Amino acid sequence: MMLVREGLYIGNINDGTAVFQGKHPNITHMLSVLSSQILYQASPKTGDPYSSMSLGPGEHVQSEQDETAVIETIALSITPDSTEAKSGDAAKKGGRVFTRMTVPLKDMESENLLDHLEACMDFIEKGRKTGSVLVHCMAGVSRSAAVILAYLMRTERLSVEDALTSLRESSATACPNSGFMDQLQMFEDMGFKVDHGSSIYKKFHVFNLGEAYGKGEKIESSRFASDPGEASSSLIEDLVSKLCVNGVEKSPMLYRCRKCRRLVASESNVVTHNLGLGESSFKTKRKASGRCDDYGEPKCSSIFVEPMKWMTAVVQGDVEGKLLCATCEARLGNFNWAGLQCSCGAWVNPAFQLHKSRMDLTWL
Ligand SMILES: [Zn+2]
Ligand SMILES: [Zn+2]
Repeated sequence: MMLVREGLYIGNINDGTAVFQGKHPNITHMLSVLSSQILYQASPKTGDPYSSMSLGPGEHVQSEQDETAVIETIALSITPDSTEAKSGDAAKKGGRVFTRMTVPLKDMESENLLDHLEACMDFIEKGRKTGSVLVHCMAGVSRSAAVILAYLMRTERLSVEDALTSLRESSATACPNSGFMDQLQMFEDMGFKVDHGSSIYKKFHVFNLGEAYGKGEKIESSRFASDPGEASSSLIEDLVSKLCVNGVEKSPMLYRCRKCRRLVASESNVVTHNLGLGESSFKTKRKASGRCDDYGEPKCSSIFVEPMKWMTAVVQGDVEGKLLCATCEARLGNFNWAGLQCSCGAWVNPAFQLHKSRMDLTWL
């Protein structure tokens, strides 16, 4: 394992195993980022080098995804003649303890790293206050490096490129996969946090829903945005609280059904796209993302939004169809999980498209 900062190490699976074997007594916290296949193996075979990596009973931390991160306390049993056993109360009882957090994640570009970052960074921060932290994955190249990069970016306010240059001074092979690098760029663009309200995150979220749908997963209704037209919706309160941003009064735009005036979307539901580039705005050049506000642009005759709970056909699981007003059933637009083209020429994928001509734009 390699020292990155005081109390912070990067390593591979062998380093992780060595911690279990008591070979790194200075490590008090270990963050294991491994595939769920390794973490959830039901009955690890004896002698399997990864058997110590599978999960014990611990505190299960629910994440945005179906798979959860887990924090647990591990007691190491050490031999009586070990020098360590002669010192300290914990040692007298026969073992040293360390805290371990496991994050199920494959080293694949399409994996959702972003939704795990905040919990990982907090774990590292906490661990460094009381001891030393090892962040490891299988090879110590992609997943562990990505998590450490985010941490360095947040704590030292480094761009992703600068953080990578700095990390490579400790670990020359550090090289997160390109999907993780894209997500770290989003993390930088969101101001070194995972900001669920930002348009950058919104795009990422809708893109992930599209990927999941494409793989045949059933999308739980909890992953759809709440209905702004519902009386119980907290949207309006949410918007009111944001009315005054940095002392500047900001009036959010609301979209209503032209026929019955029902609220169908707010500015915060809009997923922006780059004008007429012919591909999903998610995949276009990183730096451009988030600055392509195009509502009000005459070129686009529709807005694209995140899927919301009032979109009955979407919630039912249809691949494509019409978007009808939930109150008066007027046709407001179309959706297609495989994508639709905007009048500006851009393909949006997946697409939940509302025609501006069917709605009235109002301000709160
Ligand atoms: Zn209506
Ligand atoms: Zn457009």
